[in-house]
Amino acid sequence: MIQTSKNIAIIGSGLVGSLLAIYLKRKGHAVTVFDRRPDIRTIDFSGRSINLAMSNRGWKALRKLGLEDSIKEIAIPLDKRAMHVNEKPVYFQKYGKEGEAIWSISRGILNRRMIDLAEEAGTIFRFNEKVWDIDLPEAKIFTGESEKSEWKEYRYDLVFGCDGAFSRVRHKMQRRSRFDYSQDFIDVGYKELTIPPNEDGTHKLDKNSFHIWPRGKFMLIAMPNIDGSFTCTLFLPFEGEVSFENIKNENEAKDFFKTYFPNVRKEIENLSKDFFSNPTSAMVTMKCYPWSYWDKVALVGDSAHAIVPFYGQGMNAGFEDISVLDELMNSHGDDWETIFSEYQRIRKPNADAIAELSYRNFVEMSSKTANPKFLLQKKIEKRFAAKYPEKWIPVYSRVTFSERPYAEALGIGDRQEKIMQKIMQYPDIEEKWDSDAVENEILNLLAE
Ligand SMILES: Cc1cc2nc3c(=O)[nH]c(=O)nc-3n(C[C@H](O)[C@H](O)[C@H](O)COP(=O)(O)OP(=O)(O)OC[C@H]3O[C@@H](n4cnc5c(N)ncnc54)[C@H](O)[C@@H]3O)c2cc1C
Repeated sequence: MIQTSKNIAIIGSGLVGSLLAIYLKRKGHAVTVFDRRPDIRTIDFSGRSINLAMSNRGWKALRKLGLEDSIKEIAIPLDKRAMHVNEKPVYFQKYGKEGEAIWSISRGILNRRMIDLAEEAGTIFRFNEKVWDIDLPEAKIFTGESEKSEWKEYRYDLVFGCDGAFSRVRHKMQRRSRFDYSQDFIDVGYKELTIPPNEDGTHKLDKNSFHIWPRGKFMLIAMPNIDGSFTCTLFLPFEGEVSFENIKNENEAKDFFKTYFPNVRKEIENLSKDFFSNPTSAMVTMKCYPWSYWDKVALVGDSAHAIVPFYGQGMNAGFEDISVLDELMNSHGDDWETIFSEYQRIRKPNADAIAELSYRNFVEMSSKTANPKFLLQKKIEKRFAAKYPEKWIPVYSRVTFSERPYAEALGIGDRQEKIMQKIMQYPDIEEKWDSDAVENEILNLLAE
């Protein structure tokens, strides 16, 4: 269905706001994007920012616009985890089937590219303009230097809040009656560090792996960048025996790495200096509902559903919001009220499901990936899935390599986990894990 051209404001030029701008431009709307930040294309950065894992849902949203191939040029495929457990050689765990991979991509480089593409499509960007307030029924936004300064007022037909986890647009919606809102910080923080390239520009670790150093209550991960470096992220409790709070000076930082990450310590650039100059950041799960105000305002991406990053799905989920909005715009044309109400109805249970799965994956990545029983369970599951691909798709693959709803992945994953818990009680499972008897037992449990 063709839509009548509207005058639309998007608050936030992050990944979600800039992708949404391209979609809306392609539909013939006039689009202005506001961001409180300066234009990131004008800011000098090495390209070594947070890197993200893009998977099927993200690629789908880009593919629909014909952008998948050009974005793949700035991404690196990772088809396995590389597990670095102390005193053991590195071992590899394939993520999925042959040809399945997640893609490591720098958030900064991707964001710059997306803004370029949105601008080429005709979007107007207004950087350094922070939105302080929004009049929801009138779709009016107010920007200015500070909360107390004089504000500029703009009126639009529609406003999309793509302004991230601490959204101002949502903040205004929160003041309305019957608006549900919750926010939960986890007691683990993260810090970014860098492994530079070799002198010849090659990567110091296997380039096509997602590297994990699991250490129980904390872990280090590393993902490759296209310049040969790796961005490492240290996830560590804020407080407690082994914690950010207890690493107070450069010597303590060095000792911490010497004790827990001896093999990687030497590779990390300026370890003790960066440890203190790079910020320690917090992680939050934010849930809210509704996500829209009549036919005027809608929240998309992190502003509607911020999740902890342990499934690598935050951006993917935001991009999937846009795929769904696109389908609804195609079906409902100018009926924006239906588009927004269907959008939130369809997406909310899926956002809640990926929030739950992401939280659980933190526990899995940090502690269970080093646990022999857990590894055996994964081995049994993998063997069964390879033999009966139509009967068993692991939950990780359902989230990462499929486009089926997250809520379905959570539901089926829970059922599969119950079956595996029973299988792990099977007598002498360590010896019999690859026997016909165990296989038949799984088939029986599946048929129940
Ligand atoms: C450590 C870490 C690792 C991650 N790893 C992955 C991963 O592997 N895979 C994945 O899919 N996701 C990952 N994510 C999540 C991903 O980064 C986010 O989901 C995604 O960036 C959200 O995009 P967004 O555009 O909704 O919000 P944001 O990126 O937060 O962008 C919001 C924009 O709005 C602007 N803004 C905010 N307030 C205002 C205002 N009042 N006025 C004007 N502008 C405003 C901001 O300046 C910003 O540009 C990770 C996140 C973290 C923290």
